[in-house]
Amino acid sequence: MRVLFAASEAVPFIKSGGLADVIGALPKELTKKGVEALVVLPKYSDMKMSDELEYVTSYDIYIGWRKVYCGIFKAEVDGVVYYFIDNETYFRRPGLYGYHDDNERFAFFDFAVLELISHLNLDIDVLHLHDWQTAMIAMVYKERYSYFPGYENIKIVFTIHNIAFQGKCDPKLLTDLFSLDSYLYYNGNARHDDCLNMMKAAIVYSDIITTVSPTYAKEILTPEYGEGLHTVLELRRYDLYGILNGIDYDINNPETDGSLVANFNSDNFRVEKVKNKLALQKEVGLEQDSRVPLIGVVTRLTRQKGLDLILNKLELLMEEEVQVVILGAGDQVYEQALKDVAWKYDGKLSVQLKYDFGLSCRIYGGTDMFLMPSLFEPCGLSQMMALRYGSVPIVRETGGLKDSVPAFDDENQTGLGFSFVNFNAEEMFDTILYALHVYYNNRESWDDLVKRGMNAKLDWEHSAQEYLKIYKSLL
Ligand code: ADP
Repeated sequence: MRVLFAASEAVPFIKSGGLADVIGALPKELTKKGVEALVVLPKYSDMKMSDELEYVTSYDIYIGWRKVYCGIFKAEVDGVVYYFIDNETYFRRPGLYGYHDDNERFAFFDFAVLELISHLNLDIDVLHLHDWQTAMIAMVYKERYSYFPGYENIKIVFTIHNIAFQGKCDPKLLTDLFSLDSYLYYNGNARHDDCLNMMKAAIVYSDIITTVSPTYAKEILTPEYGEGLHTVLELRRYDLYGILNGIDYDINNPETDGSLVANFNSDNFRVEKVKNKLALQKEVGLEQDSRVPLIGVVTRLTRQKGLDLILNKLELLMEEEVQVVILGAGDQVYEQALKDVAWKYDGKLSVQLKYDFGLSCRIYGGTDMFLMPSLFEPCGLSQMMALRYGSVPIVRETGGLKDSVPAFDDENQTGLGFSFVNFNAEEMFDTILYALHVYYNNRESWDDLVKRGMNAKLDWEHSAQEYLKIYKSLL
């Protein structure tokens, strides 16, 4: 079986969030299970390993009436072949997204992916699309390409990594960029709230829709979480599946991670993890103290991640015997607000406003607890990283956080972390206090909790099997 993944980011080449981790890990795991997995990505100028890419071919693509160049490059990592779509007008810029012409950039990418199939004779069985950037491929394929030789029997799977980003734009772009007839807008196939909605089109046209956790799959059917698309998803509910993401156990491994000062595992973490804690405290300017509980946060600074709850209680939290380190980049308002609090609590609170992979690993490896009070969380990988690195998650029970962090039960010695139900700062604060109480007063239970988390199986083995089942059901 041959599956082509089309996505806008992937580890180890370029990453802005969890999508990149998924595209870096799932094809690799599927390859182990006998699937021939191929991945196609844009060739961004900020990409790592760009010197190692091999030129394959080039062809022209029409975006509306304009003919544009499309170069194809290639690389192989861990048995997975990656193709890169080159056009410097569209992708030779800093970063990945956030440009006024993003719709056009990804319309170009979508056509480049479809053309790649015939230009390289790929003979694929399944085309697996991810998020709004590749969503229109489903519609363009079914309306324009599925009749062409070499394209007839391709099945389409669309994965929603975050329904908050839908690719909403001017309806005119359906004809201007995608060369599709406007009746496909007026008949509702791609129309939502008087916009062209790329994600809606993918929900309508794909054979199967998946999302990244079972709880999120249920949540997005409700008005509270569906971001307006719940009614469309309701129509496809029997083709909608929630499969929990995993993390890459080869890369995210505290026993081998080169960014830690001391490697550790679930048997020796009591002795070795503390060395990472002391080094982390020194690195980020906190007082060096092995005894005080250290809470970590690694996140995009957006409303989704519960920054309002954190900011609401941060000063109160600083009155407790605790230290906090926050690593994040994102919305200016949150950056400023965090900076404002940080200067007051020098040595107790450290705010690092940047994107830094090495430091993120040292935070997972050096903290005792990891705070993630998300408003919504399709899956979340950070809490899984925290578990693997022995930092006990404190999370809100939503989406993948609910599925991956069962609540600590002192009586039965079960659960992997601490959680609260409502998006409410008081509930979050009480939950943190409870975690601190267990940390200080019930050391044995705490150590068992850390150990259970480190030994939890949150890799891709099981989830890749679930995707494979879905592919097979389609063929
Ligand atoms: P999302 O994809 O919504 O941002 P996830 O929890 O699924 O959230 O994935 C976030 C990933 O990005 C994790 O691997 C996390 O460690 C990483 N990350 C987030 N912010 C930063 C940062 N400032 N520096 C380094 N890594 C970060």
